[in-house]
Amino acid sequence: MQIENTVIIGAGPIGIACAISARRAGRDPLLIDAGAVVNSIVNYPIGMNFFTTPELLEVGGHPLVCSGQKPTREEAMMYYRGVVRAEGIRTRTFTKLISCEATTSGLECLMKAESGQFKMVCQHLTLATGYYDNPKMLGVPGEDLPHVSHYFDEPHLGFDRDVVVIGGKNSAVEAALELFRAGARVTLVYRGKEFPPSVKFWVKPDIINRIKAGEIAEKLETEVLRIDASGVAVTGPDGVEEVLKADRVFALTGFLPDTELFRRVGINIEPETGRPEHDDDTLETNVPGVYVAGSIKSGYRTSDIFIENGRFDGDTIFGDASR
Ligand SMILES: Cc1cc2nc3c(=O)[nH]c(=O)nc-3n(C[C@H](O)[C@H](O)[C@H](O)COP(=O)(O)OP(=O)(O)OC[C@H]3O[C@@H](n4cnc5c(N)ncnc54)[C@H](O)[C@@H]3O)c2cc1C
Repeated sequence: MQIENTVIIGAGPIGIACAISARRAGRDPLLIDAGAVVNSIVNYPIGMNFFTTPELLEVGGHPLVCSGQKPTREEAMMYYRGVVRAEGIRTRTFTKLISCEATTSGLECLMKAESGQFKMVCQHLTLATGYYDNPKMLGVPGEDLPHVSHYFDEPHLGFDRDVVVIGGKNSAVEAALELFRAGARVTLVYRGKEFPPSVKFWVKPDIINRIKAGEIAEKLETEVLRIDASGVAVTGPDGVEEVLKADRVFALTGFLPDTELFRRVGINIEPETGRPEHDDDTLETNVPGVYVAGSIKSGYRTSDIFIENGRFDGDTIFGDASR
């Protein structure tokens, strides 16, 4: 069985920041991810720009230099893998934590790699697993069809096609605008009466004007009933069923942390908020030796903690060696 002292699960920006703090505190952590390093950023839309300025995405004091005012997805991937390399962090990618049990020899973790399952024992385990692996499902028939995705990838693929975007927050609104500009015939379906205040103030007038101009079709107060190979059946405020033509469907309705994983590690979850039980001063959970970092700390409120304000959690867990 593989034996480690310090293991960090999730090689997102916060997991990397935790690994840096651990190294600076004299540990030699192993950073593990179910996908690639910064796998959530890998799943961002191609060519996307961050809304955050570069200095607020930096970890470990490494400067993030970008060609524009704000980094792109591609520049961020380059930056974070450069940091991992510069810091000499040991990584094990495409390896998923399935569960963990406290035993007399330590925290016994069941892992699943491409080659199969294996066990690993460690003394100190940090979970920085984010939420971007777990889309909020609509729960309608047809959601698993191949032309339906919970991740917006590449607007160009929508050219001269009918595309239905489901959702009304930033991801959905931005995807609808990009698809429209790439030549797609877009219908935006949202169950709310109006776009929520969280839609970025510079994006809102753009979507409202495109709708007013008839360039993007909008279905507000509309629920999705089912999806099939060529259309999305919906019902609007009048209760009448309608089928919207769709060659591609983007269900961009948000994400939730994997609270089942927390349970399989023995962490108590607040049922209302989805918050893992932890001490705010140390980030240690109710399972001794198991810590939480980054966006998972705020449970279902996934927009409370992001890179900007989560990147110092490693200092809380391991101590800030720079102080
Ligand atoms: C489109 C988009 C744009 C955004 N723009 C910004 C921005 O401009 N500024 C900003 O601050 N934030 C932004 N965010 C939010 C930001 O991406 C998240 O807040 C941030 O990624 C959280 O970091 P994290 O390290 O906690 O989690 P993540 O980056 O999600 O990393 C978690 C990692 O854990 C891995 N993982 C999950 N489960 C397991 C498991 N069981 N075993 C092993 N590995 C596992 C995942 O593969 C993933 O790589 C944006 C988010 C999106 C979706």
